Amino acid sequence: MVKPILRPYVGIPSFLRAPVAETADGLAGAAIAVLGVPFDEGSPFLPGSRMGPRAIREHTLRLPLGGLYDPDTGETVLERETTRGLIRDAGDVDVRPANAERTFTLITQRTREILDAGCFPVVLGGDHSITYPVLEAFDRPAHVLQFDAHQDYSEIDEDLARTNSHAFRHITGMDTCLGLTQVGIRGLRTTRAHVEELHAKGHRVVPMGEARVLGAAGIAALLPEKAPVYVSIDVDALDMALIPGCVSGEPDGFSHRDLMAALRAVAERCEIVGFDFVEVNPPLDVGTGATAYLGALVTAGFLGFICNQPWWEARLRTQGLLV
Ligand code: MN
Ligand code: MN
Repeated sequence: MVKPILRPYVGIPSFLRAPVAETADGLAGAAIAVLGVPFDEGSPFLPGSRMGPRAIREHTLRLPLGGLYDPDTGETVLERETTRGLIRDAGDVDVRPANAERTFTLITQRTREILDAGCFPVVLGGDHSITYPVLEAFDRPAHVLQFDAHQDYSEIDEDLARTNSHAFRHITGMDTCLGLTQVGIRGLRTTRAHVEELHAKGHRVVPMGEARVLGAAGIAALLPEKAPVYVSIDVDALDMALIPGCVSGEPDGFSHRDLMAALRAVAERCEIVGFDFVEVNPPLDVGTGATAYLGALVTAGFLGFICNQPWWEARLRTQGLLV
């Protein structure tokens, strides 16, 4: 038994120090695979979110090994998953600079490998354009829940279709998308026509003010009980003041507490089939890496809520990972 290394600046930074498995073979016996997508060519403004996966992994090294305890709730999460080696770090997608189409194909391929291995995908961006190729890997239909200040629903031009502001236009056109729910939308860059069009098509846009009124339980109740849900979290759902390392911050966003409460409520109500966390931009971040640290907290914390659900335990048993 190797003694765990607890110092955050020691060792090779994999997500929560999980074993690295860059090929499908390495996913045998795993329940969760964390995939980095170091891609920011979909960012029309300042680049840098390609460094997000590495920075978030690095900040997970600051979290304790063997389970995460929350003194507020008395709950411990991820104890079973970390001590039994159920998490693998699947490494990064082999991005192809200046060839976004090829990169998107590779994102879909790597995600499909994870799903074919029976693993739950946790995807670290990168900019928000990556959610569409990730979702293309899913055969199983699911609801899509997006936490974001922005709708990312721009019109598609023949030569401008793949930026981080186009992703959810593509996603709502997918046969496997049972419906899109956008939560936290705000700011004067919002387009009225996009809100109205999504509502007309039966999707749901929840502006930040309404999200506050609904609260965590009300947000979760927008989704059918026990339904399969894919969750996409743009770090700019959080308030601008919390995220110096994000190019697209907007004021009046979620507090960390309220975002985590909403994620917990959704994990308790629905069957989460995977999630991504995007738009952390480390070159813009402050010296403490505060934004990347929030990324580590949100991803590990949300994964923990998911893994504490009865349906998750049943899934592990079905897969023979828990006897
Ligand atoms: Mn955004
Ligand atoms: Mn976004």
